[in-house]
Amino acid sequence: MKYYSTNQGVAPASLAEAVVKGLAADKGLYMPERIDPLPRAFYDSIDTMSFQEIACEVAASFFGEDIPAGELDRIVLDTLNFDTPVVKVTDRIWSLELFHGPTSAFKDVGARFMARMLGYFIRKSGEKNHVTVLVATSGDTGSAVANGFLGVKGIDVVVLYPKGKVSDIQEKQFTTLGDNITAVEVDGTFDDCQRLVKAAFLDPELNAKFRLTSANSINVARFLPQAFYYFEAYAQMKRQGLADRLVVAVPSGTFGNITAGLFAQRMGLPVRRFIAANNRNDIFLEYLKTGKYTPRPSVATIANAMDVGDPSNFARVLDLYGGSWEAIRAAISGYSYTDEQIAATMRRVLDQTGYQLDPHGACGYQALEDGLQDGETGVFLETAHPAKFKDTVERITGRPVRIPERLQRFMKGRKQSVELSAAFDDFKHFLMTR
Ligand SMILES: *Cc1c(COP(=O)(O)O)cnc(C)c1O
Repeated sequence: MKYYSTNQGVAPASLAEAVVKGLAADKGLYMPERIDPLPRAFYDSIDTMSFQEIACEVAASFFGEDIPAGELDRIVLDTLNFDTPVVKVTDRIWSLELFHGPTSAFKDVGARFMARMLGYFIRKSGEKNHVTVLVATSGDTGSAVANGFLGVKGIDVVVLYPKGKVSDIQEKQFTTLGDNITAVEVDGTFDDCQRLVKAAFLDPELNAKFRLTSANSINVARFLPQAFYYFEAYAQMKRQGLADRLVVAVPSGTFGNITAGLFAQRMGLPVRRFIAANNRNDIFLEYLKTGKYTPRPSVATIANAMDVGDPSNFARVLDLYGGSWEAIRAAISGYSYTDEQIAATMRRVLDQTGYQLDPHGACGYQALEDGLQDGETGVFLETAHPAKFKDTVERITGRPVRIPERLQRFMKGRKQSVELSAAFDDFKHFLMTR
């Protein structure tokens, strides 16, 4: 299957090329040339299938022409070494818990899958085609990517993060690994880290010496596998007899996660509609209201993994609906919440139901409370474990948050990082002399 650029400025690429490059040369995002509906029989029996079986079918639909079945199944099974249970919160609202993976956030699925698929393409093309992945992070991406790529042959990962601006737990998740993972602590902000990565991609000398790629949600191998758990959630709700009028709320930042859900729907998954839940960074909501897309600098919130002022996957959403504002409005509705509203939701839901939301999931939950119509059942994506935002959550609820065993293990590791200034010359020198 070929992948075209949303900017239509370059010839379509092979899957291997799209995965290795990440972004097309015309700065567009890659889209698969076809989205095939899955057969009726699949949906009829989906509630009898395991998560892994479901995911293998979905993966084959996208990648089956380009990767032999045995290899692809192995990539999927290796990726999904954890469950994504749907848990009842109220009579009408269920939580799709995506935080049972190694770093306790949904990004584990896409990062693990991409690492394995990229590893496969590198193996196939020979050792000399070593790839260096550069990733700027404000926390969650770095930990998921570093852990997803740990030990994968032929790939080096350099994680850039702003010194003193990520939580202890997040920092430990990518600074204690060693092996093919290097953490660079930048004396600056997350925006500085992103600027350094972008400058590196454009630097001729670095590109002559390394094959550089990124691992953010613009990469098709990272965002598409996120479709798996939408099917799995549907299967679980079908077993409960509650899948008939399903609404799915997705806490959104770059809109990679929700786009994977829209792809699933295009493949025939019977979701009635989607809700994009935002914090105060509500550029998409503005678009839904006005038809105008106006990026602006992000503002800091307590749901900081969604502090995005120019959601990169908006280009994919537009492309999927042929640029039609009306079609997008019909498929997706939006809500946005202030920090005070997010905090109030977390407190109220904990008091009334005993369910501890994290600040991102809280946006999704509240969007269902505000947006569900009669007869509908809502599933929101609980995108991270509350312990990843322990200080914030404890300050808001006044109750201790238990840290899962797999997160505690990271805390025991020894931090290893390289400290650099925010100047590009320093970063370049560091890469060239590694
Ligand atoms: C990355 C992230 C999001 C936003 O997901 P997008 O795919 O960027 O829209 C939401 N919640 C958490 C916890 C995240 O880490």
